[in-house]
Amino acid sequence: MSGLEDLYREIILDHYRSPRNRGELPVPPATRVEGFNPLCGDEIVVYLELDDASKGDDATVTQVRIGGQGCSISQSSASMMSAAVAGKTVREVKELTKAFKSMMSIHEGELEGGEAVEAEESTTGDGTRLGDLEALRGVVKFPVRIKCATLSWNTLAQGLEEAAAASA
Ligand code: ZN
Repeated sequence: MSGLEDLYREIILDHYRSPRNRGELPVPPATRVEGFNPLCGDEIVVYLELDDASKGDDATVTQVRIGGQGCSISQSSASMMSAAVAGKTVREVKELTKAFKSMMSIHEGELEGGEAVEAEESTTGDGTRLGDLEALRGVVKFPVRIKCATLSWNTLAQGLEEAAAASA
């Protein structure tokens, strides 16, 4: 399956070289959160704007911007994430986060001494599509890089929590 691996590498490099939604948003109304992966030195800054955070899971992510620096896996994952979540509801973003982390959790679970979850399916129950994010599937073969791939998603989740808390 080296053809598929070449394609995945191409997608990752494309997002690394031409990151989507790179930049900043005015805070407020946007929420700004930072994530750091000390294992690799990756930094991710997520700027996130919701139409109305008080709507909870029904709120829509109107804009996302990404800052920070780090390895190609962390930066391309953040770029793919920004493209995947823009325009989605918080509920859809949570589903997507779950699907992505499930794809990554085979080894993340092992790293943390938890129970490893086998994730053959890359879609959630209602068929959430991962699209370009599938390209990061190969990362599970390199456990030390999984934190690089999940960093932006953990940072986004923190941002959604902070946005919801601020509106409560
Ligand atoms: Zn990294």
